[in-house]
Amino acid sequence: MSSISASSLAGSLLRQEVLDLHAYHVPDSSGCIKLDAMENPYLLPPVLRDEIAEAVAAAAINRYPDPGAASLKEKIRGLTGLPQGMDVLLGNGSDELIQLLAMAVNKPGATLLSVEPSFVMYRMIATFTGMRYVGVPLATGSGAENFSLDLPATLAAIEREQPALVFLAYPNNPTGNLFSADAVAQLIEAAPGLVVVDEAYYAFASDSFIPRLARYPNLLVMRTFSKLGMAGLRLGFLAGSTAWLEQLEKLRLPYNVGVLPQLVAEKLLGHHEVLQQQAEQIKQDRDKLYRQLGEIAAVRVYPSEANFLLFRIANATAVFDGLKQRGVLIKNLNGGHPMLKDCLRVTVGTPDQNMKFIAALQETLTQLA
Ligand SMILES: *Cc1c(COP(=O)(O)O)cnc(C)c1O
Repeated sequence: MSSISASSLAGSLLRQEVLDLHAYHVPDSSGCIKLDAMENPYLLPPVLRDEIAEAVAAAAINRYPDPGAASLKEKIRGLTGLPQGMDVLLGNGSDELIQLLAMAVNKPGATLLSVEPSFVMYRMIATFTGMRYVGVPLATGSGAENFSLDLPATLAAIEREQPALVFLAYPNNPTGNLFSADAVAQLIEAAPGLVVVDEAYYAFASDSFIPRLARYPNLLVMRTFSKLGMAGLRLGFLAGSTAWLEQLEKLRLPYNVGVLPQLVAEKLLGHHEVLQQQAEQIKQDRDKLYRQLGEIAAVRVYPSEANFLLFRIANATAVFDGLKQRGVLIKNLNGGHPMLKDCLRVTVGTPDQNMKFIAALQETLTQLA
């Protein structure tokens, strides 16, 4: 054994799907205004930070966490306004829940279907759990139909592929738009398997499928607190009927949400109005940033119900680099999905950060002209 290198051993031992995967790339952001990852830019009020510090100091971190996270779940149920007979299952971020769902339905040959471009983890997780993956392109066009669901094509794909699991991000990432609720409802009705409506951006959106949970036996709604100011805590949940959740609970690792995330999230949700107010501010600033981007002739900006904006600009990669040189990190989507050619995505920051982003963009465009 000692004569073999670790890399040749890994090459022969690991599954081909794993060897073929590209690791999820997180760029170095040190010293930058960070507008690349849909984080909430605000810190908590000092009083609340003191309250958290005190609770953390008293926490029993020598003990395993409450495996059922009873009091945190109670708080989430209350705030979410779940319909009768519905419950929640907690995940270490919602990414973990995507993985858990894939593992749960992954019979030989089972298919995971989503639309494209959408959240890249659907495809990645399908790949590394060994599921078949089908991505149905979104509609293109010059107006509001751009990046909307292509309903006939998606219905046909559901009929043809019989997916065990369908993911629809509502609003969609990275495009920012909210699909037509009526079209989503038609897909749920047509799907033979589970449909998960991923509401990662619910705090910034005008609609939700939570009130419709009771209507569809194959619907689950997934949410995360990451975009609401708790990205560092790693906490997401699935909402749905207890019949589903009881089964899925069996796959959840017993201590997937640690003592500190449970405790801090519960404290924060106890001051939900603070987070809600930050989200309101972000929505207002998003609309302002949308108008400002729209006034720049070289930019085509797309409507958003999330905390980020997608825009198209010639020489997107050069613009991205120019912004980075000026200390502003956003997300370059050029070179990924063909429909995202020359697209960049900017997370809404504080008013000051947004102003610096616009200034850096204008400087970059002047330099490139
Ligand atoms: C950010 C994001 C998630 C993942 O959130 P975590 O809870 O931080 O893992 C899930 N779905 C979509 C669409 C997202 O944009």
